[in-house]
Amino acid sequence: MKVGFIGLGHMGSGMAANLLRAGHEVTVFNRSADKLRPLLDLGGREATRVADACAAEVVITMLADDDALRQVTLGDDGIVAELRQGGTHVSMSTVSVELTRNLSEAHEQARQRLIAAPVFGRPEMAAAAKLFIVAGGAPEALRLCQPLFDAMGQRTFPLGPEPAAASLVKLAGNFMIAATIETLGEALALVGKAGIDPGSFVELLTSSLFPAPAYRTYGTLIAERKFEPAGFAVPLGHKDIRLLLAASQSLHVPMPVASLLNDRFQRLIAQGREKLDWSAISELAAEDAGLRRTGSS
Ligand code: NAP
Repeated sequence: MKVGFIGLGHMGSGMAANLLRAGHEVTVFNRSADKLRPLLDLGGREATRVADACAAEVVITMLADDDALRQVTLGDDGIVAELRQGGTHVSMSTVSVELTRNLSEAHEQARQRLIAAPVFGRPEMAAAAKLFIVAGGAPEALRLCQPLFDAMGQRTFPLGPEPAAASLVKLAGNFMIAATIETLGEALALVGKAGIDPGSFVELLTSSLFPAPAYRTYGTLIAERKFEPAGFAVPLGHKDIRLLLAASQSLHVPMPVASLLNDRFQRLIAQGREKLDWSAISELAAEDAGLRRTGSS
């Protein structure tokens, strides 16, 4: 299929590469042109403007946040202005429910379609085509894009015709991951202060009651204190918790744990530790326990 791909960051670079490996004709665009080279070497076509990537049946975006996606989609010479009528925009970034609704309306007015298809899985999973994709949009658009999802992920979960539902589910899932990181951080601070080896603790729990990928991945990162290079950086984690809190406010759902997580991320950013992986919020529990000096990670 002829596809445009916009946003070649930690996630997008692996996803676009997998589309090329699966035989799709992919035109790639990135704001910073230095990230294009590896994709061009795999057979990708170069786009020097967003508009070049829109000369396709489907255009995929994997951008950092609401501002980036809004600019690329609704700005002058953006996707809404450039994509053909009947074309499909697959928005795979983690963004707000509100923006997904706004984009959905804008595409509808331009007689285009929007699929929201955010993903679960870190950059290693993106590179290995092992993402879990949560997809909301019109059934015929979802059917059209299934071969693309199959090239990027291990499983797609269709969520019905409403794109914004996919954004909400993704935010709720990331909230659960962040809460898992927080509880792991507190438990590891406790056993660590008592002299118990953190690695053995994580091995015991993930081999018994907590075999889930989130506990395994983050338990290991926290036990090893491996926060650099960031797979998912602190500002992105903070963004997701803020978007979740906005959704919880509009639905009038109290989420006290999310408020605590918001403070954790604020603290890391206030201390200039935004380059770290979001699992570094666990360091704050260790510091509270007197195990380390503030900012020593
Ligand atoms: P990233 O490495 O920071 O890449 C962000 C991408 O957005 C880059 O291509 C960047 O271009 C582009 N960008 C940022 N601001 C822009 C703007 N104003 N205009 C145009 N392009 C802009 O982020 P990532 O880790 O790939 O994450 C991408 C999305 O996936 C995020 O929504 C994130 O929440 C979500 N996600 C991430 C993970 C993960 O583990 N990393 C997992 C699941 C979902 P430049 O190269 O020019 O900066």
